[in-house]
Amino acid sequence: MIESPVFEKGYPSHEAVNRKSSMKLRYSEAFYSVQGEGKFVGVPSVFLRTFGCNFRCMNFGLGKDEPSRAEKHEAGQRYNQEVLDLLDSGIIAKTEKFTDLPIIHTGCDTYASIYPEFKDFNKLAEIDEVVEHLLSLTPEGKWTMDNGQDIHLIMTGGEPLLAWQRLYVELFEHPRMKDLKNVTFETNTTQVLHNDLYDYLNNSNRITVTWSCSPKLSVSGESWMDAIKPDVALNYSTVDGSDLYLKFVVADRADIDEAGRAVQAYRDVGVECPVYCMPLGGRSEEYVLNVKEVAEVCMEKGWRFTPRLHISLFGNAWGT
Ligand code: SF4
Repeated sequence: MIESPVFEKGYPSHEAVNRKSSMKLRYSEAFYSVQGEGKFVGVPSVFLRTFGCNFRCMNFGLGKDEPSRAEKHEAGQRYNQEVLDLLDSGIIAKTEKFTDLPIIHTGCDTYASIYPEFKDFNKLAEIDEVVEHLLSLTPEGKWTMDNGQDIHLIMTGGEPLLAWQRLYVELFEHPRMKDLKNVTFETNTTQVLHNDLYDYLNNSNRITVTWSCSPKLSVSGESWMDAIKPDVALNYSTVDGSDLYLKFVVADRADIDEAGRAVQAYRDVGVECPVYCMPLGGRSEEYVLNVKEVAEVCMEKGWRFTPRLHISLFGNAWGT
């Protein structure tokens, strides 16, 4: 039995999402780019970044000998120090729109998609509006182009498999989504699929689903017990016709050893899949520091190296 996640302020409860008639999807941004990571690197894709995450990943970007500067505040909220500084500076009142928010260099790089204080920078839209927005980003206003090539849809976040997942059957079944062929869920792999979504994807002959599973290692600041959930990956992998891979963010040998232990934990429950490793670092200068070592380890272990192509192409910016 896998426990349902606890939802924090600003996120919907399962009950709220069940009241579909009044339910809207909150998302921080949608954009058209090339997939920068994992199996589909280079594939033209529309990204839908939903709001909310059950994690904070506050230690990303902090040196390992540097004590975590994360702080815990009332209501159990945990804040990265850079986020606290931004809030203290009055960033909410000073900033007009999501894309004007500053990029930060420690913790979760999509902080404005996860902290409730930033939820009003995120859109709240009916599925019809979301579909129109997504299609407006594609080159021809549709998923399958006249030349036969298809545009992928990437469900990302935040964590896209929080309670929002109960709206996804409606999204994928929308009349204007009928030519959509490929969907990837970029997930931290802690949220079990709701039965409706599981059954829908399991029986869909039209949509090929890829689970890009990125469990968080201790370099993120999240604990093994919270982050490594092999039964959840097993749940995804049993969706008929779907494809699953594991993707780890690593900075050094200790992370690689931990990734190896995690891979074994997934194998122990029957999840046999390709393993990708990606260098830590949202900033291009950090990324270059450890890229070669990660590539060499991948060659040694038979794992697959994934770059962060979008960082090389566009730097660390919203909408990429
Ligand atoms: S799991 Fe992903 S979206 Fe959630 S806090 Fe960590 S990096 Fe951010």
